[in-house]
Amino acid sequence: MSNRLQTEQIQQLDSQHHLHPFTTHQTLRAASGPRVIVKGEGAYVFDSEGNRILDGMAGLWTTNIGYGSKELAQAAYDQILELPFYNTFFKTTHPPVVALARKLAELAPANLNQVFFGSSGSESNDTAIRLIRHYWVLKGEPKRRIIISRKNAYHGSTIAAGSMGGMSHVHQHSYPVYEGFRHVMDPYWYGESFDGETPEAFGLRAARAIEDEILRCGPENVAAFAGEPVQGAGGVKIAPDTYWPEVQRIVDKYGILLLADEVITGFGRLGTWFASEYYGIRPDLITFAKAATSGYVPLSGVLVGDNIADALMAENDDFNHGYTFSGHPVACAVALKNLEIMERDRLVPRVKETTGPALARMLARFKDHPLVGEVRSVGMMGAIELVADKKTRRRFSDLGRVGLICRDHFFRDGFIMRAVFDTMVCAPPLIWADTQFEEASAVIERALDQTLQDVKGELAA
Ligand code: PMP
Repeated sequence: MSNRLQTEQIQQLDSQHHLHPFTTHQTLRAASGPRVIVKGEGAYVFDSEGNRILDGMAGLWTTNIGYGSKELAQAAYDQILELPFYNTFFKTTHPPVVALARKLAELAPANLNQVFFGSSGSESNDTAIRLIRHYWVLKGEPKRRIIISRKNAYHGSTIAAGSMGGMSHVHQHSYPVYEGFRHVMDPYWYGESFDGETPEAFGLRAARAIEDEILRCGPENVAAFAGEPVQGAGGVKIAPDTYWPEVQRIVDKYGILLLADEVITGFGRLGTWFASEYYGIRPDLITFAKAATSGYVPLSGVLVGDNIADALMAENDDFNHGYTFSGHPVACAVALKNLEIMERDRLVPRVKETTGPALARMLARFKDHPLVGEVRSVGMMGAIELVADKKTRRRFSDLGRVGLICRDHFFRDGFIMRAVFDTMVCAPPLIWADTQFEEASAVIERALDQTLQDVKGELAA
């Protein structure tokens, strides 16, 4: 069977039987179906037609060590033969889960020494929400139930994590939104600042929106503040330097817990094992997933602060929460090997020393392009804002339309960047070298020029 026929057959079956996450299925069908990805090697994936594609999104913020690691395959194989599964519910444990929990406690900030495992970022955030509310019950303050998070935050698609997230289109489908969450402005200087407002002043204003909300709710009702150190799915929104220190001051002042959702930023993306270290914050809980295994198998978890763990240990009752696959032995074995490889190959310090600065330089090349309002990056995550008017930051009509045009140009030219409305975002595997940066740079240049041709008439004079 030719490649083309095989591809069409897969696309047809896909359209008959497979529902995709966050997808308009009608559009997907009309566009002759999805591109079929069949293989990954290093920094590249390959489609069923034999095209090689440079993956600027690390799968989905995930494959930090790149594709095709035989070492991870071997770790999974060995563990499957040794012990493919056993639960950790009924006074049992196993070596890989213990070794991984120990390793994570070593890599995490000093006050986080216990881990509760799951399989997805959404699950880890659901776990964190329960832990937070349970903690306050155990501390004798059951009224503290409200969790403050931010507009445009993405914390997952389960009902609780989706409710904690601040994306209105996610809320639409989970109506009624689980109660007990409040959403304040996100620290998005390019999109939200007043005319002439410096990033520093804006960062303080955005943080103080949390304090305003605490006072509105009554501090005695507030359990926690939750935030992604860098908003990822919301469009790689990087808070100004003044933001996180002010957030820490506020949560300390009111004695509320701080949850850092590091599902994207965990495991080296900013050049530190966790972004909490990068921003100097002291979370009581960190949720993680994705790059813990470089995405080779699903694994997630919550790193739990000593304050919360101590309260749990003092309780003479069950914590009634858990997943069949909490601490899955194969996932734990793969995660351990993945972390070993990251350490051996110095992938985390390299973000600080070489790859992060290379990404910043690459993006900076495009800041004067007529379509580009702003480029920004931190470590190995970055964004390009596409706007109709550079001076006024005016967007194109029908937000998201031009982002998709641009994304399609990237994709046709063998490069993946994601469009978050009209913000093009990237988060490459941490293994990128000069070749990949040069290749990506050439595609971005062509794709921006092609997009410019497509929308020229809409640009400000
Ligand atoms: N938190 C953040 C910050 C995320 O980016 C995501 C997924 N992109 C999640 C939580 C949810 O993770 P999952 O899709 O594994 O449930």
